[in-house]
This record gives sequence, C-alpha cells and structure tokens, in this order.
Amino acid sequence: MIIVLKPHTSPEGIEEVRRHVVEMGYEPRLIQGVQRTVIAAVGDETEHPSLETLKGMAEVENVVPIQKRYKLASREFHDANSVVRIGQRPIGESNFQLIAGPCAVESRQQIMETARHLQAAGIGILRGGAYKPRTSPYDFQGLGEQGLDCLAEVKEELGMAIVTEVVGVTHIEKVARVADMLQVGARNAQNYHLLEQVAACGKPVMLKRGMASTIAEWLSAAEYLMVHGCQNVVLCERGIRTFETATRNTLDISAVAIAKQESHLPVIVDPSHAAGYCKLVLPLALAAIAAGADGLVIEAHPHPLDALSDAGQQLPSQSFRQDIVEPIRPWIQLAGKILNPCRTLGCGLN
Ligand code: PEP
Ligand code: MN
Repeated sequence: MIIVLKPHTSPEGIEEVRRHVVEMGYEPRLIQGVQRTVIAAVGDETEHPSLETLKGMAEVENVVPIQKRYKLASREFHDANSVVRIGQRPIGESNFQLIAGPCAVESRQQIMETARHLQAAGIGILRGGAYKPRTSPYDFQGLGEQGLDCLAEVKEELGMAIVTEVVGVTHIEKVARVADMLQVGARNAQNYHLLEQVAACGKPVMLKRGMASTIAEWLSAAEYLMVHGCQNVVLCERGIRTFETATRNTLDISAVAIAKQESHLPVIVDPSHAAGYCKLVLPLALAAIAAGADGLVIEAHPHPLDALSDAGQQLPSQSFRQDIVEPIRPWIQLAGKILNPCRTLGCGLN
C-alpha cells in the first residue's frame, strides 16, 4: 500500500502516520518529495489489518493499493492458463467448449428433445436452469427438484455433462448431485455467503459477472470461491447494465480480454443474455472468440417462441449446428483452439 500524505504535512503529522503503520504490523518506508511525503507500507495485507482505515486520518490524502485483492485468481499467483474439467470436458488453454441449452428446464420432453438436438450438433455440455432467478415473482420460477430429475435423466441417457444454476444455499446439495458444474448467476455474483457455501461442494463453478460488477469485483467474487476451496472456476461475461437500450445488456468485450490478462481462469461468454435477442447471438459469439474467450454458453430451445423464459433470445435447437456450430468453427481454429474436446476415447471430437 502507498499512503499519500497531504501537502505540507508537519513532521509531527508524518510521524503520527508512520507510528500507525508500524502499529498495524507494516514496515514504513518514507519517500520525501518537495511538497509531500509518501509512505510505502511493506507487508502482506492478508495477514494484517487493512491500511484503508488510514484514509480517516487528517494527514492522509489517499491510500493506494499495490497488491491485487484477488491473489489466487490472478496470474501473479499462477501464470499458466488453468484448465477446468466439466465432467469429461476440459475448458481452458487450447480447449474451447460450446455449452448450450434452454434457459429453463420446462418438462422432461422439452429438455430431452433439446439435448438430443444439441448432442447431434456436437455439444457435450448441456446447460438448463431447474431453479430460475426471475425479476418478477409472478414469472415461471423453474421446476426445481423435478427439473433436476429431468437433467439427471438426460445425463444418464445421453452422457452429456450438466451445468445448472444454484440460487440459494438450501439447494446446493441437490444441485451438486446432478451438476458437473454449478452456475452462480449474475444476480448472485456478489452473494458472498452463497459463494462460500458453493465453493465447499467440490464441483466446478461457472461464475457469471454481476450486471453492475466491475471486473475487479467479478475477480474478487472468484477469489471467494477459490479461498474457500474451489479451484475450478470458470468466469462468464454476460453483459453489464449501461444506458444502451438496443440490447438487453451491453456485452463488455474488453472485460474478456482484461480477465484473460489478469486471471489464469478460463473465461467464457454468454452472448444470449448480453444480446437478449437471437439474431445478435452469432456476431457477439464471434467477437467473444476474437477477444480470447475459452468458450460460449448459448441458449437454445426446440420451440423458442413457446419458451417459458427468455423466449426472444433462444435459438432453435434443431438448427444449432448450421446457425452456430459451423459458423464459429473456423474462428475457433484461427484462435488455435479445439472445439468441444472430450477426454474419453470415442466421445465426439467434431
Ligand atoms: C441464465 O443463465 O439463464 C440467467 C438467468 O443468466 P444471468 O444470471 O446472466 O442473468
Ligand atoms: Mn436465460
């Protein structure tokens, strides 16, 4: 931490701040300029109280952090790209995973039909919500446990890996029994108690960026998962709230490049929730690949217009291969990545 003192602080004032720094367990190094003094406090902030409190002192103008507050998620801690396994499916480094499925599990037949279409298109990871976090309490909230049973059936019958959202601590155990990766949604991205509890379940976690989270807050949320025992975190950019109304959210492409530079964790993009509109999904997906994404999560439904949630942004699952898989394939090759790799022999490299 760098403690910047106000101009013309008296020698007694400087000594007062210096004494506080020592008392808090840090080694102070004074840098005396012509007008002002700066104190570099040397020490690990995770082991001592935060120096931010010094902002309250009359002599202090600002306290500037030097160390990142998200250590485990950062490249300073681990430089090489991490690879996370979702069932038999690796993601990260040169492994690009296209994850797809309906916004919500609506019935046994709907999820099975979607899964069959997507599997035929070469998709190995199915995503569908059994528990849905909806803005209105009057909207479809998901089938809950019944939805989880449907996902378990798909997994059993088709052998696809499953990603599904957990919206509350009371569901973690049930969700973790079925899911190969748990999704923490945008609305819960800063629910730190939930993150701590989810981390303890031992499964990989797909962490969406909160719609009003800065990149540093998103990475700090990942740090919560990691410091509580979950090393297999996949970051997901899904668009943020801005003044723009032409799209549901604004896909923050810079965040993909920045997250990749700052963190070793795989970064994926959800163009469906960013766009909110099916015709924008492909161009946003291509932009994500170009920015360095390690995967995509895209909503697809056998009858999008009849979907019980997010109808306008879901793509028809029947034509997913022509609409998405084939158009993105050359871009993934160009990025030097393999599409949908699978670690089990004979399991569709396509
Ligand atoms: C979803 O994935 O269906 C969802 C609700 O997404 P988000 O949390 O990004 O809004
Ligand atoms: Mn959705």
